Amino acid sequence: MTPPSKKRRCVKCREWFTPHNNNPRQEYCGSPACQRARKALWRRDNYIPHRRLPKEERDAENKRCREAMERLRSSQKLLAAVGVSSGGAITLADVALRSSIFIGVMSMIAGTQDRETVRSVCIEADRRGRLLSRAPANGER
Ligand SMILES: [Zn+2]
Repeated sequence: MTPPSKKRRCVKCREWFTPHNNNPRQEYCGSPACQRARKALWRRDNYIPHRRLPKEERDAENKRCREAMERLRSSQKLLAAVGVSSGGAITLADVALRSSIFIGVMSMIAGTQDRETVRSVCIEADRRGRLLSRAPANGER
């Protein structure tokens, strides 16, 4: 199916290279310097500085960035709360977050958001956990 690869000459460094299968018209080789040159050219021809965008687009872009930062911050909070303590005190908010994550995971395991079902899954998980933590280690009896 795949045609035999045809070598091309990089327009930047003039070295021969094999274009990527998905991009037979590839003009630049994969070397970092040539890729940088390609991207710089693309930016020169396509990039519109933020300040030159029409107000409407600028506002939309600002909104998109704000939302992305918000998502990033909340995922950082989540990681901080879930991660092993980095020496800082664990706040009530951390505990509440861990608790909601735990309930969420149990709900996913139960395959339902029905509180009673999730509750019984938690009870069963607790029972098994206690059983396993009393069980002898592998190889012992
Ligand atoms: Zn090159």
